[in-house]
Amino acid sequence: MASKMASCIFCKIVKGEIPCFKLFESDKTLAFLDIMPLSRGHALVIPKVHGEKLTDIPDDHLTEILPIAKKLVIATGAQEYNILQNNGKGAHQEVGHVHFHMIPKPNAQEGLGIGWPQQ
Ligand code: AMP
Repeated sequence: MASKMASCIFCKIVKGEIPCFKLFESDKTLAFLDIMPLSRGHALVIPKVHGEKLTDIPDDHLTEILPIAKKLVIATGAQEYNILQNNGKGAHQEVGHVHFHMIPKPNAQEGLGIGWPQQ
C-alpha cells in the first residue's frame, strides 16, 4: 500500500506535490478540475485517503463525496450531468485512487468550472 501511495498521482495532488485547480477541500475530501475534461467544468471528487476501489475506502471517508458533487453540479448551473465512478481496468479506471467524476453536459450555463468557494 505504501509504495502504491508513493506513486499515486492523486495522492501527490492531495499532498500538493502536483498542482491542480482546487474546487473544494476538507480534511477528508478534495475536489478539483479534471485535467482532460470531457466537458467544461468536469471535476473530480476524491477521498484524501488512498484506496484503489470504492470497497477499499472506509465509509466515513465517503460521506462527503456525493454532497460535494451535488454542490459542484449546482455551482455549474448544469441541468444535465453525469456522476461516474469507475472501479478496475475493465471498468475503464485509469487512475488507481478512488474518484468520482462530475461531468456537466455541454448545454450547461456559461460560467461553470471557474471556481468553487470554500465553505
Ligand atoms: P478514470 O478513467 O475514471 O480513472 O479517470 C481518471 C481521470 O483522471 C481522467 O478523466 C483524467 O483526465 C484525470 N486525471 C489524470 N491525471 C490528472 C491530473 N493530474 N489532474 C487532474 N485530473 C487528472
